Order: sequence, then structure tokens, then C-alpha cells
Amino acid sequence: MTNQEADPHISWQDMVSRTADLVGDRSTAKWLCEHASGCDGEEFLEIKNELVGERPGLHLDAMVRRYLAGEPLQYVMGRWAFRHLDLMVDSRVLIPRPETELLPEIAMEFLANHKAPYVIADLGTGSGAIGLSLLDELPLGSATVWLTDASPDAIDVARANASGTGRAAAHVKLTVGQWFEAFDVTLHKSFDVIVSNPPYIAEGDTQVDASVNDWEPHTALFAGADGLDDLRVIIQQAPQWLRTGGLLAVEMGHTQAELVSQLFADAGFTGVRVHQDLAGHNRFVSGVCAS
Ligand code: GLN
Repeated sequence: MTNQEADPHISWQDMVSRTADLVGDRSTAKWLCEHASGCDGEEFLEIKNELVGERPGLHLDAMVRRYLAGEPLQYVMGRWAFRHLDLMVDSRVLIPRPETELLPEIAMEFLANHKAPYVIADLGTGSGAIGLSLLDELPLGSATVWLTDASPDAIDVARANASGTGRAAAHVKLTVGQWFEAFDVTLHKSFDVIVSNPPYIAEGDTQVDASVNDWEPHTALFAGADGLDDLRVIIQQAPQWLRTGGLLAVEMGHTQAELVSQLFADAGFTGVRVHQDLAGHNRFVSGVCAS
């Protein structure tokens, strides 16, 4: 039985309950109904007694089928919130995670003590979540943000999301390439801040959720035997691209703080700090380029 076949004359309020019975979770049902109706939050409360139209009903039906087949809610809806942004997401990119939300903050705290204009890079940007949050939250026109990814598909998604930032999008540069290979050598020693949430899971890690493993891009998740293959490249090469005094801030696995801090020290960074995510886990390391 699907939602629509059951009864076309049903209010949105009743549709949330019916969908909750199908998907087994009321908040998921609400997300899906809000998305199908085109009304979020307060707006949805205003229409909750209105009947579900045919098209939104069919859209909801299609989403419920995909969700029940195991696809992550974020891909089913094709969008997800990250800080102040409503980002387009699909299986071409990693789903933005709440634990990543503090990475832009580390960069902004650093920049608060530095004079604009800023040149920023988000390496392996995926949906663009980190770099576009910086663009969105820093004063308009104060930063040029480079978004890079080895995947041209991901850059297409990031470009769509950059357009969603409106006027600020004029200050975004998108380029395809693996880490610093995305840049021309003329950008040596140009960046005030480099941020990255690279893949950091060890190949064959058995702790990875089945839905992550089955649906999300593996190139955005796995990085060699110890999960540090990409972090090693980024940390070692960053001093060539950062201005003296510029900041590198990266996300990592919660057990990798010691090894990643050592990589920063080995590459000559000073002021190396480990930062926690919203759950209190060691999640980021930052350091200042000394040379
Ligand atoms: N935090 C993600 C996860 O555990 C991994 C993201 C990454 O490797 N950068 O699913």
C-alpha cells in the first residue's frame, strides 16, 4: 500500500501520521511531508488541515519508496541543512554531517584577528558545505573562496550550491583536481585559510554504518590502510600554498588526533591545536604556517 492509493482525500496532518506508520519514524515523516508540500516549519503548520494535492501526494509517494529501499533521507529529499545553508545534496557528494559544522567556526575565529580581504580554500569540498558557509557568514565581498574536488560531479553540486548564495557567489572559484593539484602554481603562498574534510576512514573499517557504505561516495570516505593517506598529502603540502601565518584546519576521525597533530608538527606548523565537535569528540586539528 502506498500513501496516495490509500486515500487521496487526506489532510497533511493525517498524511504525517500515515507516513510515520510507513517509515517507522515521525520526524522523518514530517521532513518528507514538509518537503513534498513545499512548506517548512511554521508554513507547514498553516497548511496542516489542507488536503494533500495529487502532485505533492505522488512526490511524497516516490520519496517514501526510495526511503524504504534504504536510501538516506538527505538524498531522498535532495537537500540538507548545514549551518545557515540549505544545500542541494545527492549521491554525487557526501551528506553534510553535523560534526563538520564547527570547522567553519575554527576558520572564522582565526580570521577575526586578521584583516580582510581573505583568500580561502576548501579542498575536497563535495556539496560545498564548509567553504560556502564561510562565504555566507563572512562579510559580503571580504573573501574569495576556492572550492576544489577531484570529482567533477561533486564540483557540479558545489556550483549549484554556490549559486544559491546569491551575490556572494561572485566570489567563489571552482576547480577540479586532487588536493593541491587543483591549483596553478601562481597560487603558491596565497591562502589565508585552507579547510578540508577529506576522507579519513581506514579501508575495511567495520564500524562504518551500512547506509553510509552502501550509498555515499567511497572516494569521499576511505583513505588507505590507516585512513590518513589524504590527510598526509594535505598537511605536508599545505605550507607551500598558505601564506606565512595562514591557517590549515582539517577534520579527522575521533581517534586520529595524536597522529594528525604529529603530521602538522612534522610539516613545520606552529600553534597546533586539537578541537572537539558538538558531541565532544576530538574532530579537528588546526595549525599555523610558520614559514
Ligand atoms: N564523518 C564521516 C563518517 O563517519 C566520514 C567523513 C570523512 O571521511 N570525511 O561517516
